Amino acid sequence: MTYVTRFAPSPTGPLHLGHAYSALLAHDMAKAHRGQFLLRIEDIDQSRARPEWEAQIYDDLAWLGLTWPMPVMRQSERIDTYSAALHNLVAKGLAYPCTCSRRDIAAAASAPQEGAPLIGPDGIVYPGTCRPSLDAAPRGVSDGAALRLDMRAARLRLGAAPAFTETGTGPDGETGRIDTCWETVFETVGDIVIARPAMGTSYHLSVVLDDAAQGITTVTRGQDLFEATVIHVILQRLLGVPTPLYHHHRLIRDDHGKRLAKRDDARAIAKYRAEGANPQDIRAMIGLVQGPAAHTLGSRPASS
Ligand code: GLU
Repeated sequence: MTYVTRFAPSPTGPLHLGHAYSALLAHDMAKAHRGQFLLRIEDIDQSRARPEWEAQIYDDLAWLGLTWPMPVMRQSERIDTYSAALHNLVAKGLAYPCTCSRRDIAAAASAPQEGAPLIGPDGIVYPGTCRPSLDAAPRGVSDGAALRLDMRAARLRLGAAPAFTETGTGPDGETGRIDTCWETVFETVGDIVIARPAMGTSYHLSVVLDDAAQGITTVTRGQDLFEATVIHVILQRLLGVPTPLYHHHRLIRDDHGKRLAKRDDARAIAKYRAEGANPQDIRAMIGLVQGPAAHTLGSRPASS
């Protein structure tokens, strides 16, 4: 099978050294496998996405020496696909509308009988206030409501607990299987939002459908998204699309050990460019100096 990987930035700010690492690593790995490197613009959050940031992404990546096939997939053009998948999940009783505000959730999760609120990949684990009983008739998408994935219904439908294969994270770049169990999913992830009212979708739903549509065989992304992968595997199985391999790479951190964020303009690629850096300087800064063979070194989990 041809190796296909991708870089999927959101055009909500400047690309920084962390993005450069992710994009160059994915590109290098595709090259080393004689595979394909694809680009995808994750612009479902139209309140934050800006055309000028998207233009800057293309410009910075081309400057770094990356090439990718055209046309580029843009999430804002795929709302019909997301909507069809949501209807499918609702019709099967796997998703339900939720009108709880953040404040409602915080209050319900910190009720005395609940103990300390649990924090999952998307914040407080939803206490289940709007969750219907398992034999209730499906309720569709309604105005102003979010849609949540019903993890208990997912377990009934899927049976086996979610598992995936993580590549290249061991000291010698070995591959390992990551297993989980449903009880852990209920406790540490819960009924996550799969469609936000303002977007008509969510990061989790879109990323799963897009990786499948682009034929991604290995998802390359930062370790900050490792916890979200179990959600993606559950959605893949419910939607009947393949589970790719995953490569969660180390994160680029600032001098204080903090992960770089979009607002870290000080580490923006554009800033280094303006100061006269060249792409090899960027590779040196992020420890990817060896070119195509560097992925084994670069993929080691961060020691910090
Ligand atoms: N769009 C996400 C970001 O910019 C990356 C999502 C992914 O790689 O799955 O952080």
